[in-house]
Amino acid sequence: MEDVLPVRFDYHALPSRVLFGAGRRRETPEVARQLGCARPLIVSTPEQKDLAGAIASLFSASSAHIFPEAAMHTPWDVTSRALAVVQESGVDSLIAVGGGSAIGLAKALALRTGLPQIALPTTYAGSEVTPIIGETQDGQKRTRRTLDVLPEVVIYDVDLTLTLPARLSATSGLNAIAHAVEALYSVDANPVTSIQAEQGIAALAAALPEILANPASRDARSRAQYGAWLCGTCLGSVGMALHHKVCHVLGGTFDLPHADTHAVMLAHVVAYQAGAVPHAMRRIARALDADNAWTGLHALAATLHVPRSLAEIGMPHEDLGRVAELVLQETYANPRTPDYESIRAMLERAWRGAAPQPDSL
Ligand code: NAD
Repeated sequence: MEDVLPVRFDYHALPSRVLFGAGRRRETPEVARQLGCARPLIVSTPEQKDLAGAIASLFSASSAHIFPEAAMHTPWDVTSRALAVVQESGVDSLIAVGGGSAIGLAKALALRTGLPQIALPTTYAGSEVTPIIGETQDGQKRTRRTLDVLPEVVIYDVDLTLTLPARLSATSGLNAIAHAVEALYSVDANPVTSIQAEQGIAALAAALPEILANPASRDARSRAQYGAWLCGTCLGSVGMALHHKVCHVLGGTFDLPHADTHAVMLAHVVAYQAGAVPHAMRRIARALDADNAWTGLHALAATLHVPRSLAEIGMPHEDLGRVAELVLQETYANPRTPDYESIRAMLERAWRGAAPQPDSL
């Protein structure tokens, strides 16, 4: 199977430093010192407050502050409370410990303070290597892309992922796969991110079922982290498309759980795109070792026992039309031009948990 070399492309490398390996969280104070910092604000969700405390204890006595109030979709009220803490405490850096919620909060703070960031990811969502921030205010999630939010250093320590429940491992892993999938048909696709995307999908698709079978497997979890890094890098390097737009509407306006939404929607959106980007479909199928991209993704979701329908994760059926309308507003560049009827039909299939259907083939 031959890969198509685009005749013209741009490639931008992202300026972040990545440390990968078990136990490397202990290097956090030294990494901070190299950034010229010693008094960090450590942000986490309430559930990971103890982990934030453990990272704080690596710093010399009472030099680190903790803000354990991060929440999904980076709500503005949380950010404004955290900004007050930054100003009162005189911290000189930001450390995010956790998944995309903690990392999102640190990005929101970096954007407004210019403080350097270190990220210690504990899920597979990939946000730590993207210059992208999504923030929610008045029920609208807005995304922007700026290097000002890219963490300076990312420390991938597999030990921090061992407690990630099987279901969250699966859904955040599928979230990462979604980044790579869209990178393969992005308007900015280039040969380097396409290699990363295919490797990232393959690494996660192989590791996630192993994690479900044996959540304590450091080997499988390391390979999943490696995949998450590659997939996140793809999202950070090239533009998102329809799948991310659909998920941002469902998450930001209807408050559906972020990773579950990705897990439900991915195979449906891929089927929707199929006719427009056959070369990307071939690479996704190859990474999944499947006959085609959408049935491969649908089968992976079944293997991982993730939610299979929008109904199951709380989407009201009467609002599907509104979702379709919002998706068509300020839509991201996409290989197939979306229209109301086809988006509404795709959402209906996803709501019912029906098989994905490539209606454009
Ligand atoms: P999350 O950060 O919301 O975490 C989900 C829950 O799992 C939280 O309660 C958290 O404390 C807990 N948790 C995380 N790691 C754990 C661990 N190792 N052990 C036990 N519990 C753990 O979930 P997520 O899916 O990583 O992030 C979702 C958020 O990230 C959304 O707001 C989404 O928009 C954002 N996101 C942003 C980007 C980007 O590039 N900007 C990319 C992906 C996701």
